[in-house]
Amino acid sequence: MFPSQPTWSTSRSNLLQRCPRAFVLRYGLGEISQHHPLGQDLLHAFEIQTPWILLHQTIRLVVLDYVEDYANGTVWSTGLVRARFATDYTQLLNKRNVILKRVQDKGRIRISNLQRSHPENHLIEMGVEALINIIQHPEFVSLLKQGRIKRMEPTQSISSNRVRVYNSPDFIHHSERGETLVKLNPFGEISAYRHQRQAALLRLYGGKDSTILQFSLRQRCWNVKKTIPTDAEVNDAMSLVRLDVEQMEKLYSLVGKNNNLDKVALADTYRSCMNCQVRFICPSKDGLERARAEQFTLMCV
Ligand code: SF4
Repeated sequence: MFPSQPTWSTSRSNLLQRCPRAFVLRYGLGEISQHHPLGQDLLHAFEIQTPWILLHQTIRLVVLDYVEDYANGTVWSTGLVRARFATDYTQLLNKRNVILKRVQDKGRIRISNLQRSHPENHLIEMGVEALINIIQHPEFVSLLKQGRIKRMEPTQSISSNRVRVYNSPDFIHHSERGETLVKLNPFGEISAYRHQRQAALLRLYGGKDSTILQFSLRQRCWNVKKTIPTDAEVNDAMSLVRLDVEQMEKLYSLVGKNNNLDKVALADTYRSCMNCQVRFICPSKDGLERARAEQFTLMCV
């Protein structure tokens, strides 16, 4: 009934850790009912991101375009960087508003706690500063100045031991010094453990000697980490991927015949619910603790 090929991605894993119920709604029920009007509404609801998330998505998209143009011989001015960021961010916000309105107008699912968003100047300034800081970063400049650099698409996956893994680098760089796989983490510094796992899984896209370069944004500045993961680290990372996949399949198996989610756990903490896109259809909308207590009671009878 649920996805036939085990699939792992950072976003799947993050959602799984954040909330099993949200994970099953997004990647279980949402996927299998994507051709049904209610399923489409559910997937659209997951697309409605906060302006803060869209800001960081825009930073990443503009860096990708900047590098692509640079590789083709066009170097953007600071003014163009600013204009591109403002335009792209506004477009993403407009797209979000259109989806929100469409779902609200249809009225099949009720989203009452979200409102239309507009680009705010201080967020645009923040995004532009982060962009300028990366394109002037010495490591970044050195990648662009020598060798060849190619943009990668996030839809590129690798199949390893029957599991489809989505963890594509953003760029691949080649020079006489070898191959470098570059990843941007615009959503803030990630933990050392996640950094290591991300680097090891990135190596699946390269060779044993590939260097992994991870740029992570923190308070508008970029920290850089350079590693060459060992075979043991890649194997460890894949073992963790398989554990995640087992947990995902176990959750899918808890969904009842009539898509009953009673046995699928809710989030552990209220923090997870605060920005959840599907809170309006979740029992926790009237209080997580109460919903968890009711679920516990139901499971005991
Ligand atoms: S509102 Fe909370 S418990 Fe419900 S799906 Fe979202 S994160 Fe999970």
